[in-house]
Amino acid sequence: MIKKAKSPTKSWLLPGILIGMLLGGLCGWFFGEKMLAVQWMGDLFLNALKMIIVPLIICSIISGVASLGDVRKLGSIGAKTVVYYLTTTGISVFIGLVLVNVIKPGAGVQGLAVDAAGMEREYSFVDVLMGMIPPNIFKAMADGQVLPLIVVSLLFGGILTTMGGRGGKLLEMISIANEAVMKVVHLIMYFTPLGIFALVAARLGKAGGGEAFMGELTRLGLYSVTVISGLLLHGVVVLPLILLLVARVRPWRFFRGMGEALATAFGTASSSATLPLTMDCAQNKNGVPAKATSFVLPLGATVNMDGTALYEAVAVLFIAQVYGIELSMGAMVIVFLTATLAAIGAAGIPEAGLVTMVMVLKAVDLPLDGIAMILAVDWFLDRCRTTVNAWGDAVGAAVVARWEGMRFKIVDRN
Ligand code: ASP
Repeated sequence: MIKKAKSPTKSWLLPGILIGMLLGGLCGWFFGEKMLAVQWMGDLFLNALKMIIVPLIICSIISGVASLGDVRKLGSIGAKTVVYYLTTTGISVFIGLVLVNVIKPGAGVQGLAVDAAGMEREYSFVDVLMGMIPPNIFKAMADGQVLPLIVVSLLFGGILTTMGGRGGKLLEMISIANEAVMKVVHLIMYFTPLGIFALVAARLGKAGGGEAFMGELTRLGLYSVTVISGLLLHGVVVLPLILLLVARVRPWRFFRGMGEALATAFGTASSSATLPLTMDCAQNKNGVPAKATSFVLPLGATVNMDGTALYEAVAVLFIAQVYGIELSMGAMVIVFLTATLAAIGAAGIPEAGLVTMVMVLKAVDLPLDGIAMILAVDWFLDRCRTTVNAWGDAVGAAVVARWEGMRFKIVDRN
């Protein structure tokens, strides 16, 4: 049912994006706040990505369900997807916990001046469940909530496949719409180098330029080093090993195929906004069948966040260390579980992890205003963890496709 749209990703696109990112970094570094002048370009790019998310999710999931042939297969894919999500998220939280206990970035840090105003936000796991079934699906779409859209699309697609020939007519139309949506994604992709340039330059500019940024980063130096080393360990060692051993795919080639998506994740700090590119790169460059990507990726963009989970664990233990609060082994287990839940509950939007962290802090009775301490560098760490989040989703699509016995081959572009 799903036809493969030919990816337009020319060989100049990835180098173009990398140059855009580098130039953005340099301009933001040296020109500081002046670079806020290009913010609109970044916003325009972000808007274009967000604009296409709702039709992309609806069309791709419904045609994905249809292409399975038998709606019962959904259960098997779903179960494997959940196993992958939970295992990799668990591993990443574990890495975070080990690193933060070994490096102890918070020990000896004192007197970080904080402004805790507005930190008293409530967040619980029930909110996540409630968010899956909203009273008004159109409002949920308008608010860019991805989870309810996935639930409704799965339901609708599943039911259409049981309606015989009549359902088939609508499914065929949705599959055509899906192809058209992918073509719009391809168009948007041409603007990625400019968009990423503007987003990086403006954000660094907003932080006050290179010197101010380095000042913040060194103030929270050991904490940032812990988060970034954990992310690197997970993204560069663990996930590639899973790719190699479980999906039996050569990690470097798969990584290169995901290049545009990963750079966009870094540029936008949003897994949801990156979703169109993650889908395109996984399907059209890495050859992962749409039957797998159409479930694993949209769901993964909001639920599977390895980077966020790792960061939540490190941040919470860092806060405990700064306050001189010793956490027992039992409390550590609670952090492990709640950080996993907090990552599942975080929306794929910038700095969502900060909001769901309240859940983890509360679970082990830590002061919520600890969050204010790590705020200054969060925009940067957010970009790093979002890149790992998107990478984890892409690896998941390959793993689930392999587990389901789907054949695929990376499209060699050189
Ligand atoms: N910005 C992250 C994402 O979109 C979520 C977070 O960790 O704040 O994946």
